[in-house]
Amino acid sequence: MARQRALIVGGSVGGLFAAQLLRAEGWDVAVFERSGGALADRGASIGTRQELFDILRSIGIALDPSAGVAVTSRICLDREGTIIGELAVRSINSAWDRIYRPLRDALPDECYRAAMRVERIEQDGDSVTAVLADGARERGALLIAADGINSTIRALLAPDVMPRYAGYVAWRGVIEESEMSADEHALLFGRMCFALPEGELLLALGMPGRDADTRPGHRRYYWIWFRPADEARALPALCTDASGRCHGSSIPPPLVRPEVIRELQEDAKARFAPPLAAIIRRTRLPYPHGIFDVEAPRLTFGRALLLGDSAFVARPHVGAGITKAALDAKGLVEALAAEPDLAAALLRYDRERRAFGSALVARSRHLGAYLEAEAKQRGATERLPETVLREYGTAGKIDGR
Ligand SMILES: Cc1cc2nc3c(=O)[nH]c(=O)nc-3n(C[C@H](O)[C@H](O)[C@H](O)COP(=O)(O)OP(=O)(O)OC[C@H]3O[C@@H](n4cnc5c(N)ncnc54)[C@H](O)[C@@H]3O)c2cc1C
Repeated sequence: MARQRALIVGGSVGGLFAAQLLRAEGWDVAVFERSGGALADRGASIGTRQELFDILRSIGIALDPSAGVAVTSRICLDREGTIIGELAVRSINSAWDRIYRPLRDALPDECYRAAMRVERIEQDGDSVTAVLADGARERGALLIAADGINSTIRALLAPDVMPRYAGYVAWRGVIEESEMSADEHALLFGRMCFALPEGELLLALGMPGRDADTRPGHRRYYWIWFRPADEARALPALCTDASGRCHGSSIPPPLVRPEVIRELQEDAKARFAPPLAAIIRRTRLPYPHGIFDVEAPRLTFGRALLLGDSAFVARPHVGAGITKAALDAKGLVEALAAEPDLAAALLRYDRERRAFGSALVARSRHLGAYLEAEAKQRGATERLPETVLREYGTAGKIDGR
């Protein structure tokens, strides 16, 4: 029997997981990635979960805990630097490139077409066609839209589904491990550290260094600080460069205005324990970006389906974007294996992955609700350290609840 062909739009982690798992089941795959080179390292720390390691292992990528920085506990620091909460939770904190790179390397180049933007799709009863920006047409039995939060394919198939601003931004930054003082390192590096000024949240932890280096002394210390910013004024102001150009809901790090960074550093000094404020002050290029929810009410459209961030984006508090993309791909392959009829398989994929994605988004919303810009008016700006330490992020299995 001729091998079935899957067209995959987007060559980041979601597209690569789908490509690898479908190939293992005998599918012919073609990944179309609009970006020309290797995808940029997002410089971000990635919380890992056991499910992620399991799926990577199933496609022959042996990634063990040495792929990241081990965290043994969570602490919460008050403004004076006193530990006001502590919980023993083990986790491994990795880097985006550490997951993306082996996935990309394991896929033969003939399956991966870089600098290929899919502009639209066409479908008939027997096939689906991707129409590329240069006019080329590619035909397959199935099309997987793994094209991210601003998905082109979702905009065509479900134009009403738009990313919804959550009412707050995440400031992110890193410093080199070697730039930390001995005291800062001893207090912070092997722990996930939280700080909870009113209506805000800071999370800081160790992560791999340049080229995903995990050798002691060569790693990095990463922080993410959630702060309310209303959509009409504060968000565009943060994302406007010195020439007056607004870059939307995020801004390239080198373009953040110096006065915005100075204000951030002053606010950090007023709100955080001295070691945390000092790390923020030493960070070279901190940058803000808006936090959004995406929730598609339907994942399949004939022979096309949404996967990963094109389907659901949960706020970073659940630290699950990559694992969810991997689980979506696994769910798709399992549905195709269980149901000989493609329509029935896609129905199953839609049912199972939609339930999971909706629950995950709801959970991330619950964890972030008190950060929303309007939360102050509702008087909901306080979170107890013990609740945050217990509920947050990446420990255990994702069950979406
Ligand atoms: C700063 C940051 C920190 C993060 N931290 C974490 C974390 O700690 N843990 C975690 O699990 N997740 C984290 N995430 C989320 C995680 O990176 C995403 O959930 C994950 O990358 C989703 O994968 P995806 O393949 O669905 O989408 P994306 O990674 O967004 O990839 C979409 C791809 O599609 C391509 N594309 C778009 N349109 C087209 C088109 N028309 N034609 C062809 N190609 C197209 C894009 O170029 C891109 O490569 C973080 C994300 C960011 C930005």
